Formats: sequence, C-alpha cells, structure tokens
Amino acid sequence: LSDRLSGVLDKLTRQGALSDADVSTALREVRVALLEADVSLPVARDFVKKVQEQATGQAVTKSVTPGQQVIKIVHDALVTTLAGDDINAGELKIDSPPAPILMVGLQGSGKTTTTGKLAKRMTDKMGKRVLMASLDTRRPAAMEQLAVLGMQIGVDTLPIVPGQTPVQIAKRAKQQATLGGYDVYMLDTAGRLSIDDELMEEVAAVRDEAKPHETLLVVDGLTGQDAVNTAENFDSRIGISGVVLTRMDGDGRGGAALSMRAVTGKPIKFVGLGEKMDAIEEFHPERVAGRILGMGDIVSLVEKAQEQIEAEQAEKMMKRFQKGQFNMNDLKGQLEQMMKMGGMQGVMGMMPGMGKLSKQMDEAGLDDKVLKRQIALIDSMTKKERRNPQILQASRKKRIAAGAGMEVADLNKLLKMHRQMADMMKKMGKMGKKGMMRGGLG
Ligand code: GDP
Ligand code: MG
Repeated sequence: LSDRLSGVLDKLTRQGALSDADVSTALREVRVALLEADVSLPVARDFVKKVQEQATGQAVTKSVTPGQQVIKIVHDALVTTLAGDDINAGELKIDSPPAPILMVGLQGSGKTTTTGKLAKRMTDKMGKRVLMASLDTRRPAAMEQLAVLGMQIGVDTLPIVPGQTPVQIAKRAKQQATLGGYDVYMLDTAGRLSIDDELMEEVAAVRDEAKPHETLLVVDGLTGQDAVNTAENFDSRIGISGVVLTRMDGDGRGGAALSMRAVTGKPIKFVGLGEKMDAIEEFHPERVAGRILGMGDIVSLVEKAQEQIEAEQAEKMMKRFQKGQFNMNDLKGQLEQMMKMGGMQGVMGMMPGMGKLSKQMDEAGLDDKVLKRQIALIDSMTKKERRNPQILQASRKKRIAAGAGMEVADLNKLLKMHRQMADMMKKMGKMGKKGMMRGGLG
C-alpha cells in the first residue's frame, strides 16, 4: 500500500468505535489503492460503498488504529467478494467423458499456455487422459505451439489438418476423444487483440458444436479496466463457467480479479504464476486480497490484537473469580462470551466444577435471543446495582424489567442464575487458588 495511505491511516484518532469520519477518511484512500491495483472504477466505487456501511459503528480494537481496523474490514470484504459462494475454486466439471473444455480469451492472454498447464495438471494429479486441440486457424504457428507443448508435457494433441474451420476441428476433436477413450478434450481457440464480432461468432459456433462442460475465460491479470470489458463481453455472448487469471507472477496487483468477479459473478478458478507448465494454482482469495491492498501485515496485526485482548480480558476475569468476586458485570461478560462462542465454552468451561452449571445453562435453552435479553436486563441496571444486585428492591426490579421490555420473572431468573454462579465461585475460591485452572489461559 502506498506510504500516503499508511500515513493517513496512522493519523486517524483512536476512539471506541469507528466514526463516519474515520471510515470516510480511510476509505477514500482505500479507493485510490483499489484503482492503483487496477480495479475498475465502478467496481471500486460499489465496493467502497458496501464497506462503508459495514464499517461505521464497529468497535475499534485496542492497540490498533481505526485506520488499521478499516483495512482489516476492507480486507475481509475483499476476500468475501473474491471468493463469492464458490467453495471449489480449483475444480473442473470433467466427470462425464469425454468432457469438453473450451478455452476462450483475447490473443496473448495465455490461453494456449493455460491449456497446457491444465492438461498437465489433470494428467498428473487426477490421472485423466487428456486430448488438446488447437482451433487457432489464423496462425499456423499457434497449432505448432500447442503440439510442441503437448510433447513437452506428455499430453496428446489432435493431429493438424490444414484448411479446416474451427467448428470442423472441434467436431474432429470430439470424435477422436470418443474413439480414443479420453476423459477430457480441450479446445484452445484463437484470440484477437480486442473484442470483435467475428471472433465472438466463431467462438459461439464452436460452443454450439462442442457444448462444453467448462468454458474458461483466460484473462491477463495485469490488465485492469480492459479485463472487465473482456469478461463482460465473453460472458454475455458466449457464457463462461469460470475465469483463469494469468501473469499473477508479475507486478500487477490483481485488481482484475475483483473486477472480474464483481462483473461476471463467475468464479475465478485458477491463477497462472509463470511461463512454466507447472506454474498454475487454485485461486486463493486471501492471497489476492492481500495483494490488492499490499497490507498483509496490518491484517494479521489486527487479528493478533483482537486475540490478545480476549486473552487479557479472560485473565482479568479469572483473577476476580479466584477472589470469589462475581458480579453482574462478570455475568454479562460471560453471557457475551457465550454468544460469541455459541455455548458454554468460555472461561467458565475451563474451570473445574463448572461443567454441571454450564450444562444446565445450555439446557435452559440459552440461545442468542435469550442471551441478548439477559444482557439487556443487566444493561438496564445502574452501576451500583450491577456490582451488588442484592440491593434490588421490588420497585426497581419492575423498572429494570420494563426498561428491558421483559417481566420481573425474567429478571428473577437471571438473578438466581447469578447467585448460583457466585456461590460456585466462592466455594472454589475457598478450595484454594491452587488447582483452580485446569489448563491456564493465554
Ligand atoms: P494465447 O495467445 O492466449 O494463447 O497466449 P499464450 O498462451 O501463447 O501466452 C502468451 C505469452 O504469455 C507466452 O509468452 C506465455 O509464456 C506467457 N504467459 C502465459 N501465462 C503466463 C503466466 O501466468 N505468467 C507469465 N509470466 N507469463 C505467462
Ligand atoms: Mg494461443
């Protein structure tokens, strides 16, 4: 990330929660960073707007600045956007042989190279029999290129027959794949320097002939705005099933990935990382997100800070419990922890003797809704009452329950739970501090 961005982020004042101004300041710089990373303007704009809504009002973790915290939020949102709902980034639909895979994209994007890389991958890693065919009738050298690649990686290529159209070659590839018992056949199409109708018609005709199980758009990861136009065009006119981003080994920041995903909604399946035949890997959204922001260290810093604070709080709480102190604030802390962890696995879960009570609380159906209501009850008490709930009189109980939108019976239940827990704490305190903690914290 640019020094300028780091500078601005550092200057943001530290507060309890992210203010509108904090978020706006940070996001203005994030937007510039996205554009510098080659994310297209409309995609960057939409993305920043989405993050703005998410970030405002979030609590700031101690020991990181609001700016850093915004970056973390931005990073997480990037990962989510890049990953979409695709859980199988590196998978191809090739289970009904012979499965046709159509490779499309502009000239020089890396189609032929990627065809070879994927063929090798399927052969080596999955034991598939793959046939590759070049449909690039415009440049005789292109067919030779694929044939040479095939020899190099030990994958068969369809013999070259001069004078055939791409559709005729596709037909022949299918015959050959069927007769030869291949699992997969890959159709490497010709590209153009830019989108044109002739190209689209040619590729559409091949698609209609081959009915591909996968249509992979190969895009140069170094291109920004152009990549979006390319993806939009290919997807609307041909229909793609996934994207391969090449040249991710270069200086580019991979903004094309975000644009691509946002515009087409199609999964990015692989990234190309060099000219060699094994320089390809499954798409990892975190890596690309880190690359777009260039701030991997900040993201992990924020994560560490959050972990550390949790450990600090837990330790403090344990010390109080050991002294037999357990007031409503402590109970609230426990309830919040339960909400976060989805059950009684918090600090209490680590203490001997608490298992039974934990189980009771679990069985009492303490789901998020109930927990939230209990926390609301505690919030309606004064500081003094929270420290010492015994002072609560009937009239105050009524007011507190009403303040939290509940019945006095609900409050009584909560107070009973607190008494039980406090008793337990006291007993354990008397048992001595030795042996209190089973595993130790932090
Ligand atoms: P096509 O016209 O789309 O078939 O593109 P080619 O496969 O012929 O690739 C064009 C050039 O890009 C070749 O020199 C490739 O070696 C190179 N290339 C392809 N993929 C990558 C990649 O992931 N990283 C790098 N550095 N170069 C690549
Ligand atoms: Mg080619």
